[in-house]
Amino acid sequence: MDDLIEFLNARYADEERIANAAAAFPYDFPGDSPWERARATANIINGKLRAMAPHEMVAVFADPARVLADIAAKRAILARHDAVDDSLHYVYCAWCSTPSAGAYQPWPCPDLRDLAQPYASHPDFLEQWRVAVS
Ligand SMILES: [Zn+2]
Repeated sequence: MDDLIEFLNARYADEERIANAAAAFPYDFPGDSPWERARATANIINGKLRAMAPHEMVAVFADPARVLADIAAKRAILARHDAVDDSLHYVYCAWCSTPSAGAYQPWPCPDLRDLAQPYASHPDFLEQWRVAVS
C-alpha cells in the first residue's frame, strides 16, 4: 500500500468499525458506557464544577460520537488534499498548490503526512511519510 490516502482511509475505517461497535455494545444500563460515566463525574458538586481527572478525560475522548465526528473531519481534509497528476507526470496536492501561479506542492503534502503520524507504528506505514521531528 503506497497511497497515503488509501492508508489513512483504511485506518479511519478501522476506527469507525470500533466506534460503531462500542456504540452498539449492550451496556448493563443506559449511561453505563465508559465515556458516559466519565462525563457524569464532571458534575456539579456543591455548586462547583468538578474538574475531570486525565483518565476520565481519555474516556470522554473515546465517545463513539466524538470519534466518528473526528473521522468525518479527517476524511474532509483528505478529500481536499487529493493528488493531481498532470500530463507531465508531476503529482501535486490539489489543495496546497496554486497552478495558476506556478506553485506546486508535491503530493503527499505536509498536511497529509501530518495526519499519518499517529499511525507511524502501523506495519503498512511507509518511512517516506514520516515527518522529521525538529
Ligand atoms: Zn495538501
